[in-house]
Amino acid sequence: MTNRVLDLGGLDALIGVLREDGRVVVGPVLRDNAITLAELESAADLPGGWGVETGPGHYRVRRRADTAVFGHSAGPQSWKRFLHPPRRTLVTSDGNGFRAAPDPAPDYAFLGVRPCDLAAIAKLRQVIGGRKPFVVAAQCTEPGEVCFCASMGCGPAAGPGYDIALTERIDEQGQRFLATGGTDEGAAVLDRVPARRATPEDTALAEQDVQAAARTMGRAMPELDLRDLLAANRDSAHWEAVAERCLTCGNCTMVCPTCFCVSVEDHTDLDGTAERAQRWASCFEIDFSYLHGGAVRTSPAARYRQWMTHKLGTWHDQFGTSGCVGCGRCIAWCPAGIDITEEAAALTREHGGEQR
Ligand code: SF4
Ligand code: SF4
Repeated sequence: MTNRVLDLGGLDALIGVLREDGRVVVGPVLRDNAITLAELESAADLPGGWGVETGPGHYRVRRRADTAVFGHSAGPQSWKRFLHPPRRTLVTSDGNGFRAAPDPAPDYAFLGVRPCDLAAIAKLRQVIGGRKPFVVAAQCTEPGEVCFCASMGCGPAAGPGYDIALTERIDEQGQRFLATGGTDEGAAVLDRVPARRATPEDTALAEQDVQAAARTMGRAMPELDLRDLLAANRDSAHWEAVAERCLTCGNCTMVCPTCFCVSVEDHTDLDGTAERAQRWASCFEIDFSYLHGGAVRTSPAARYRQWMTHKLGTWHDQFGTSGCVGCGRCIAWCPAGIDITEEAAALTREHGGEQR
């Protein structure tokens, strides 16, 4: 498919075309001192000129020296909240019988999806199903301090699954976006947007920027079979060492774009109405492992081990892939600054394995 080059007006037109087609366009916005996700009406809603600074237990927005709209790494929210809402009513009753609640999900277009999140959307939909959103990916040219998608094979170049992929560049020629159609639907949308044909130089510069991002990524998972490592370390003393720092708050599972666990709750009212709702749950909650008379994972060590072992190990057995895409959210939003790459490296050292 032919690559195109859009300016900021072209990006605005792209949002307009997606909205004209009846889609709810969701993308990054600056809100409450974070880059969050919300409905976009135009390109003016994007966080132009804002970047982020991240680290273990650390996230701050910062002013950039340029006007980049995709110059930020993963924020506290992921696309999970739209595909798999934090709370959803399943069944209601007016006192005279039960009725399935309608699925209120609109026809979404997600704009500015990072390659790590593109991979996360595929993993999540493999588990929960649902309608495929239209996806406009934004390839990464500037990884954040906690990113490690390259070592998970999930970035910084966009993998399969996008309808359109954008690569933003700002230089002496101005701010522009190399746009690549990934599907016929994506190419048809691009045909309706004012853009010029990309030159070989445009394409080469975009590839060069993405490759440079891979080289500057400061974190990586150890290069070994993590499934085997975790299976061999079930009784490691290291789990207790993590538990001394872990608050079992569950933040890591809430921000993770692939964690999908839910709990189901029933609510009844004195007026006779009732509701059954599903809400996100976390394997760090003590009741999560409640089985006939008590919880089976009562210690913080057991709960952290469960999370990490599922995410990096047994997810392969269930779904044929890792549950981690290397977005780094769990590192930035852990109040104790616990870093999953560091914990994997510590287990690797204890196990006598090689690591980078
Ligand atoms: S485990 Fe952490 S780095 Fe991996 S996908 Fe989840 S939040 Fe991102
Ligand atoms: S690892 Fe961090 S974010 Fe996750 S439960 Fe423990 S303290 Fe909370």
